[in-house]
Amino acid sequence: MNKRFKKVLVANRGEIAIRVFRACNELGIRTVAIYSDEDKNSLFRTKADESYLIGRNKGPVEAYLDIHEIIKIALKRGVDAIHPGYGFLSENPEFARKCEEVGIEFIGPTHEIMEKLGDKIQSKIVAHNVGVPIIPGIEKSVYSKEEALEYADYCGYPVILKASAGGGGRGMRVVRNKEDLIKEYYSAKNEAKKAFGIEDIFIEKYIEKPKHIEVQILGDKYGNIVHLYERDCSIQRRHQKVIEFTPAFSITEEQRKGICNDAIKIAKAVNYRSAGTVEFLLDSSGNHYFIEVNPRIQVEHTVTEMVTGIDIVESQILIAEGYSLDSDEIGIKSQKDVKPRGYSIQCRVTTEDPLNKFAPDIGTIDTYRTGSGFGIRLDGGNGFTGSNISPYYDSLLVKITSWSRTFEDAARKSSRALKELKIRGVKTNVPFLINVLNHEDFLRGRCNTGFIADNPELFD
Ligand code: ADP
Repeated sequence: MNKRFKKVLVANRGEIAIRVFRACNELGIRTVAIYSDEDKNSLFRTKADESYLIGRNKGPVEAYLDIHEIIKIALKRGVDAIHPGYGFLSENPEFARKCEEVGIEFIGPTHEIMEKLGDKIQSKIVAHNVGVPIIPGIEKSVYSKEEALEYADYCGYPVILKASAGGGGRGMRVVRNKEDLIKEYYSAKNEAKKAFGIEDIFIEKYIEKPKHIEVQILGDKYGNIVHLYERDCSIQRRHQKVIEFTPAFSITEEQRKGICNDAIKIAKAVNYRSAGTVEFLLDSSGNHYFIEVNPRIQVEHTVTEMVTGIDIVESQILIAEGYSLDSDEIGIKSQKDVKPRGYSIQCRVTTEDPLNKFAPDIGTIDTYRTGSGFGIRLDGGNGFTGSNISPYYDSLLVKITSWSRTFEDAARKSSRALKELKIRGVKTNVPFLINVLNHEDFLRGRCNTGFIADNPELFD
């Protein structure tokens, strides 16, 4: 018997909290927001049916990381399930376990699955064991500088030092020679400790200018797993995604099949449940390598929804309620039922100044007008006239996702919607995004993770 949730709490803020409230609303589920003191005037909390202040004496970020307090509120308010969004506690197995212990459904994979996949080293071992290619490296933490030097000598420079608990493009250092490795080793460890609380780092070969291709996965509680095809997330700045699209039209059909099949192999190896993303790098010779699994909803899930017509957040909730993929509610009887159509592009509009090294800008928004129209979807966070952009949280303001029959047309729609956007009071990256969308190489799919760094004219 499937349980139907009556009340869902979202342990997050901003656009993803609103995204989950919308899905709950459509499913007839009451919604609960939690918010920090700094977020008391934020939009997301007004979009929920109930909202509660948390972390009174904690910092703005720590408030959203307090497992004990969040669960206490959920229990007091009669919540059936918690959606963690992305970031914050979304990849914390302890949080999933605690929810389970008190009888609250965690909308995501089980803590056992998270333990196997949340750590980058651990997940490489899972991939390797099912025959999926991984980037050459040491599949364990490096314990000394000497060990790192020895490995780099063996596999050849450049190499990359990565925090095993890393995420969001942080905790990575590209090292091109021995001197730099000696210099960077301890600072990489310190950075990992500071950002993620765990100082473990590992080392692997650095692949020059690959494409970042990732596969959206959905799995239910009965072992059924499908993929919703791939996304190209190569347009990155400092290893952080800026624009994502689907399909990855510059790869061959054979590459697409290989990557999607390998994603399924990894998901099956851990009996994956809920929505997740399997990430790969594709080198210039066309070989793909697994890099990591994100066991949660991702910022760029919107593009996959636009081409497949599948509501991924709603599917997560239905899966947590116990529906199988082939139920009428979810409606994916088999892989063949996933039929992408057209092209979709997502632009992340941030309150960052592209002319000043993308420094986050803060202040009050005194004009906020958005573009819309056929083929445009907006997933907004805290954008409204009079809203305050604080320095405490990530600078994502609104995601603009377009859909059209051709890639060029989708790019034109995105560009048009960005031009309609009028934001005054804080600086944004809008002019930069428009320059990328109009770039000939971007439109032809001739782009890899080096695209932004290689094209300084994008900043004009
Ligand atoms: P995070 O979890 O912080 O997002 P990922 O492991 O997903 O980190 O990597 C983010 C990005 O960093 C990749 O998309 C790619 O651009 C770059 N990257 C990571 N590992 C390598 C590597 N071995 N070689 C080249 N680029 C890499």
